[in-house]
Amino acid sequence: MQDRRKFLRQVFFSAGTAIAGAALLQACGNDSHTTDKPADTTASGKPAAVPEAPANAIIDSAQMTQEDFDKRKNLGYVEKTPMEDKHCENCALYLRPEGDKKYGGCQLLRGPIAPGGYCTYWAEKQG
Ligand code: SF4
Repeated sequence: MQDRRKFLRQVFFSAGTAIAGAALLQACGNDSHTTDKPADTTASGKPAAVPEAPANAIIDSAQMTQEDFDKRKNLGYVEKTPMEDKHCENCALYLRPEGDKKYGGCQLLRGPIAPGGYCTYWAEKQG
C-alpha cells in the first residue's frame, strides 16, 4: 500500500512538472518577436531612421524651438568636443557655415553648430 502511494505521488509529480515545462516552452515560443532587434534601432543601437536634413538646418538660435533644444540635449551636443579626433567639422552630418559665419549646421540638429562641437551621433566623414 505504501509503495502504491509513493508510486502515485511520483507519477503525479512528474506529470505536473511536464505540464508546467510544456506551458513554459509554449509561452516562450509564442513570443518569438522578443529575440528580434527592435525595428527602430541598428546594430549600433542608434535609431535606424535618421531624420531627414531639415531645409533650414542652419538657423539662428533665436529661431530654435524648445524641441530643438531638447533634441540637442538628448543627443549630447556640446560646443567643445571631449574627443580630440571627433568634432562636428569632420562629421559627415555637418553643414559648413555660410559665407564668413562662425557656426555651421547639422543634418540632425537645427540651429547653429560649432565646428569644434560634438554629439553622440558623430559619423566619420568619408573621402
Ligand atoms: S557631431 Fe553631431 S552635432 Fe556635430 S555635425 Fe555630427 S551629428 Fe551634427
